Amino acid sequence: MSNTSDAEKRMAALFEGLNRMQQMTLLARLEMAGASIYRAFAAEEKNAKAREALLAAAKDEEKNGNLLRLMTTPKDKCERCGKLMPVASDGVSCSFQCTFCAECGTALKSVCPNCTGALESRARLQAHA
Ligand SMILES: [Zn+2]
Ligand SMILES: [Zn+2]
Repeated sequence: MSNTSDAEKRMAALFEGLNRMQQMTLLARLEMAGASIYRAFAAEEKNAKAREALLAAAKDEEKNGNLLRLMTTPKDKCERCGKLMPVASDGVSCSFQCTFCAECGTALKSVCPNCTGALESRARLQAHA
């Protein structure tokens, strides 16, 4: 029992004081690390069904990690007009990092054409982050 709460405290301590973006970035790494651990468990597992289940769990972890990576990796150009935006705080983006220059953001009425989510100023998202 006390082992469980120690583990939980350690996990919580990892995330303490991090902003949302940093937490997502960290969680992405943990998911990817988790996937390799599941694969290592699977490699040692003799029960075929259990091995399959562990490999499926590894794939889920990778899927979660990839989602978090997608959501935390800023893009460097507008998806609509191709304008380069090397400065990560220029333009607008949605939660999935679909990214548009300011002009295209206005033309799209601040709605992401890919996911229909709100396009927000990247400068503001970074300040939040
Ligand atoms: Zn554009
Ligand atoms: Zn989107």
